[in-house]
Amino acid sequence: MSKNNDELFKNVVSHTKEYGFVFPSSEIYDGLSAVYDYGQLGSELKNNIKTYWWKSMVQLNENIVGIDSAIFMHPKIWKASGHVDGFADPMIDNKDSKKRYRADNLIEDKIARYIKDGKSEKADQLQTDMDAALAADDLPKLKELIELHEIACPVSGTRNWTDVRQFNLMFSTQMGAMAEGSDEVYLRPETAQGIFVNFLNVQKSGRMRIPFGIAQIGKAFRNEVIARQFIMRMREFEQMEMQFFVKPGTEMEWYAHWKESRLKWHLAVGTPAEKYRFHDHVKLAHYANAAVDIEFEFPFGFKEVEGIHSRTDFDLSQHEKFSGKKLQYFDTVENKNYVPYVIETSIGLDRMFLLTLCNAYEEQDLSTEEKQDSRTVLHLHPCLAPVKAAVFPLTKKDGLPEKAREIMDLLKLDFNLQYDEKDSIGKRYRRQDAIGTPVCITADHQTLEDNTVTIRHRDSMEQERVNAADLDTILGKLVSWKNLLS
Ligand code: ATP
Repeated sequence: MSKNNDELFKNVVSHTKEYGFVFPSSEIYDGLSAVYDYGQLGSELKNNIKTYWWKSMVQLNENIVGIDSAIFMHPKIWKASGHVDGFADPMIDNKDSKKRYRADNLIEDKIARYIKDGKSEKADQLQTDMDAALAADDLPKLKELIELHEIACPVSGTRNWTDVRQFNLMFSTQMGAMAEGSDEVYLRPETAQGIFVNFLNVQKSGRMRIPFGIAQIGKAFRNEVIARQFIMRMREFEQMEMQFFVKPGTEMEWYAHWKESRLKWHLAVGTPAEKYRFHDHVKLAHYANAAVDIEFEFPFGFKEVEGIHSRTDFDLSQHEKFSGKKLQYFDTVENKNYVPYVIETSIGLDRMFLLTLCNAYEEQDLSTEEKQDSRTVLHLHPCLAPVKAAVFPLTKKDGLPEKAREIMDLLKLDFNLQYDEKDSIGKRYRRQDAIGTPVCITADHQTLEDNTVTIRHRDSMEQERVNAADLDTILGKLVSWKNLLS
């Protein structure tokens, strides 16, 4: 990360805390590593991102429905899915600092340093060697690369490493009152399996015909070896996943369809296209016959936000095997039964949240020859902004607070609003700019005479005078989901 980007990211992180978007979990007890709480504005923004996703996936597609499955599931599910035996990261410990790292992350950092130092050939070679080692699950080779490229522990500075080992990422707990006779259950590491095990329930009760999809938003838990970059890699996080069931042989068409459709969703909020890229998986997961990541350029580089995976019939077939129940679809056109193939779209809600903030955050210098001035502004899309409008009385007297509250009352059922009468108007604008509120509405003395108010726009800082009776329509148009989804 360059110094500027490093600083920018630090500023984004402290901004989120200062304005009530994200807090470290259990902070008064010194926090809990890689766990975070969403504050009063963060939870609004998060809800808006969820709504954007849900509308686009479920409401706009007649053949996609949404469910909400439980976090706890039968432990056999994780055996069937391959998570008990295979959901692991290659990790390595430094014997001097006692710090634990993901071996592939250490190597990726070295590649980034090679690139920064202009040694692109070395970077390419190391990338190729690492990809080959990961694809072959060759742990000794990963260790060899760490030694060969003289990768040292960032904490101790030494190269005194243990061997590379696999570390399972699932959390487990006991279900049942007594320790004896209770069963070990897992906190789900992904929401997808809750969809697969409900495949027939949804298909039959919803009379769904292939191709169709099942979507869900929910918590997932992973005991990540290392927690890095704020809410990028958490131990408790949220996913928005959709499994699309298709006829075998048609999966590549649908894979292409969802790849395009998902990128369109990302770009619709106004993020510059050059901030995104596709990254094809080199090492395909055991269940996939194609997989791609949608990556976003965070201040710390391009990182995965969403994965699109062609999962074949692996999951349903595995659940057939482990449950002994048939999970097949009768295709009336083909007149035969088959296990459908699946295309999955899986996006991390917290990463989308961080992306949205990083993309929206700007420190603007507004200084003129006469005076120094600056503002921090979040250029959030109005549909995503936590507060849709702020309502101010120009002053605290002459009946203006009452008038402003009257305006609030007319609008507050349909829009999330904030009322503010403290400090100068300028300061109040700055506070709203900092949380991404698209417009501020001010009631002044003229309002008492002709019921007009000023609207001040966040991005242009321009003001216009409108009739208070039209505010409902004006705000309605500004934050309509049609702006994003049609
Ligand atoms: P990574 O390679 O970064 O660990 P992954 O490939 O394991 O991610 P998936 O299993 O494909 O991730 O999960 C789908 C999405 O869930 C990811 O694209 C990401 O946005 C999100 N996600 C995964 N792990 C975490 C985490 N620990 N914290 C926050 N979000 C996560």
